[in-house]
Amino acid sequence: MLETSAIHAGEPRPRVDGAVITPIFQSSTYDYTGQTDYHDVRYIRLNNNPNQLVLNQKIAALEGTEAALVAASGMAAIAGTLLSVLSSGDHLLAQDCLYGGTHGLLTKDFPSFNIAHTFVDPQNPASWKRHLRPNTKAFYAETLTNPLLELADLKAIVRFAKEHRLVTIIDNTFASPVNFRPASIGFDLVIESGTKYLNGHNDIVAGAVAGSGEWITKIKHRLDHLGGTLDPHAAFLLNRGIKTLPIRVRYQNESALKIARFLSQHRAIGKVNYPGLESHPQHERARELLAGFGGMISFELKGGVDAAEKMQERVRIPSIAVSLGGAETLMVRPAAAVHSNLSPEERAKTGIADGLIRLSVGLEGTDDLIADFEQALA
Ligand SMILES: *Cc1c(COP(=O)(O)O)cnc(C)c1O
Repeated sequence: MLETSAIHAGEPRPRVDGAVITPIFQSSTYDYTGQTDYHDVRYIRLNNNPNQLVLNQKIAALEGTEAALVAASGMAAIAGTLLSVLSSGDHLLAQDCLYGGTHGLLTKDFPSFNIAHTFVDPQNPASWKRHLRPNTKAFYAETLTNPLLELADLKAIVRFAKEHRLVTIIDNTFASPVNFRPASIGFDLVIESGTKYLNGHNDIVAGAVAGSGEWITKIKHRLDHLGGTLDPHAAFLLNRGIKTLPIRVRYQNESALKIARFLSQHRAIGKVNYPGLESHPQHERARELLAGFGGMISFELKGGVDAAEKMQERVRIPSIAVSLGGAETLMVRPAAAVHSNLSPEERAKTGIADGLIRLSVGLEGTDDLIADFEQALA
């Protein structure tokens, strides 16, 4: 079971000096024992410190893959993965409305590496074929889009990719392996920002990628050179966070559903985006694919930007901050923060209203949060 793997998978047996908790190995180098391959030498950047190794095995167990690799950040995992799958001259199909950092990587950095991309509509599988090129190598998706919480036809992506021999990569950060395990429907590589639900405490930066042993070795070698390794102390904290991942996410699933229902019935609120609501355009698909609908909600106030800003000024429990997946409830207006790198036209095209608020439901009492929103909206 996930609860047991989150606590015990990958932990050294016998335990280190009998310690119930794997200690922090704050050592950059280890006795040389005859390794002949550079990537096997025991050195802190080469992802073989005991704190890193616990996570590599634990994350593979959670995702249900052969192997996994922890990385210095979600973006290190994304960049390391894409730069292992794609070479100069290659082309990538990616769903539109990507996480801001990934959007920037594809549009601002990859052109200078001669790696091209086309954004496709994830809801319209019939439109994908015409964007294929002879050099198309991979399809990149996200489980739930940010901030509108749309759910692509993920099974169609896997079918399409198999038919055209593309590698499938998915950023599963918003769902976490508790709510969705993309490898179980055939995705080749699964990426998580460990900064969010995996760690869950808003206090470190980390990332991970999971997949076949062959792919993970390739990505490890590239990341060894790019230098995107997780520090042992952050690895220790990430491992501590993961132990409570299943119970945290299940509580957040329940809490967010109640809050989404409350918001959708409030007279000051227009649209509420939450895959657990019957009104969500992909609600049926979410019920089929996801074990839970997650802790992320977005909503529009009828009063637009002014009303959204007033609500943010008046809430007492949530912090107004980017990021998500932690114990503390966070709110942000994407148009002002996470999607500020998009032009107003690009934002309009992706359906992100300037008055939209994104909410990451934390671990506080659900009734306390609802009472707080009630007074802020009044
Ligand atoms: C935060 C986030 C990332 C990037 O992760 P970092 O740990 O900040 O590098 C990637 N994808 C999604 C969906 C995210 O929310």
